[in-house]
Amino acid sequence: MQKSNSTPFVMLLLISILFSSTLFAYEASPTQINKVLKEAYNKYKGDVGGKNADYIKALAIVDPNIFGITLVDKNGKIYEIGNTKKEVSIQSISKVFTASLVMQDHGDKFVQSKIGVNATGAAFNSIIAIELHKGSASNPFVNAGAIQSTSWVSAKNSKIRWNRIKHNMDNFAARKLKLNEDVYTSEVNDNKRNQAISKILDAYGRMGSDPLEATTVYTKQCSINVSSHDLAIMASTLANHGINPISKKKVIESTYTPKIMAIMATAGLYDNAGDWLYDTGAPAKSGVGGGIIAVIPGEFGIGVVSPPLDTYGNSVRAQLAIKYIIKKLNLNPLAQ
Ligand code: GLN
Repeated sequence: MQKSNSTPFVMLLLISILFSSTLFAYEASPTQINKVLKEAYNKYKGDVGGKNADYIKALAIVDPNIFGITLVDKNGKIYEIGNTKKEVSIQSISKVFTASLVMQDHGDKFVQSKIGVNATGAAFNSIIAIELHKGSASNPFVNAGAIQSTSWVSAKNSKIRWNRIKHNMDNFAARKLKLNEDVYTSEVNDNKRNQAISKILDAYGRMGSDPLEATTVYTKQCSINVSSHDLAIMASTLANHGINPISKKKVIESTYTPKIMAIMATAGLYDNAGDWLYDTGAPAKSGVGGGIIAVIPGEFGIGVVSPPLDTYGNSVRAQLAIKYIIKKLNLNPLAQ
C-alpha cells in the first residue's frame, strides 16, 4: 500500500529535477564557476600553441605567458583567475564598441546598409573582399568596416571623434582606460595597408570623414590597453542589455545589443567565426593583442587575454579557455 502510493511521487520528483536542471542550465553556483575557471586556467596555461602578432612590431614583444580569465555576471559579480590585471592593446575588440556608437548615432539600419552585417569569408585585413562586394566592407568587424565605422562617429573634428570613441569604451569598461603609446606609435607609422583600405572605401563613397584621418583615429582606438578584467566587464554590458553591471550606467540602447551580438556571431572571429559559433553558440570578438570577449546573452560577459594567436589572428589559449568554460558550465546560448 505504502509502496504503490510513493511511486508516483518519486516519479514526479525525478521528472521535476530533470526539468529544473534543463530549465535553469545557466544557474551554476559560484563554487562551480570558480572551479571551472581554475580548471580552464590550469589546463591551458602551459599551452604553447600560436604566436604573438608581429606585423605590428610592438605586439611581438608582449609577454606571451600573460593569461587572464574573467567572467562577470549580470549583477556585477566577478570571477577571475590568472593575470587578470595585465593589460594588452584591445585591437579589433574595439570595433565592437565603435560600431555600437555608430548604431547609437545613426541607427541599426544605417549600419546594415552603409557598412554591412555579412561575413566576408576572408582575412580581417582583406582588400579583395571589398572589391568582390562592390565596395562594401561587409561588416564593421573587419578592418575595412571598422575604419568606416570610425569615420561615421558623429564629430565636428578628429579630436571630438577620438574623445567620443574613448569615452564610450571607458563607459563599457566602467573605468578610464589608457592608451598604449608604444603600440600606437608602432602601428600608426606602419599602417599603409589600412590607409589603402580607407582610400578604396572613400573611392566607393562609403566614408563619413577624411579616410586618412579616420584611419589614424581607428589605429588609436586599437591601441587602448585592457585586461581580461576590463574585457569581461565590457562584454557583460552587452550581456546585460546595455547596462554596465558595475557602474549601473546605460551605455547602449537595449534594442541595439542583439544587433551588435548578431554581428559578433557572424564575424567576431573573422573567417573562423562559423567554426567558433558551431563549437560555442556564443557571440564573441577577438583582437590581435590576444584578447577575446564572449557574451552569454542575459547572463555573463567573459574576457580572456593571452597574446599568442592562431593563423586567423585569434588567441589560442583564450579560445580554448572560453570553449572549456562554456562546455563545462553549459552556457551555450543555442542549447538553452
Ligand atoms: N589594429 C589592427 C589592424 O588594423 C587590428 C587587427 C585585429 O585585431 N584583427 O590591423
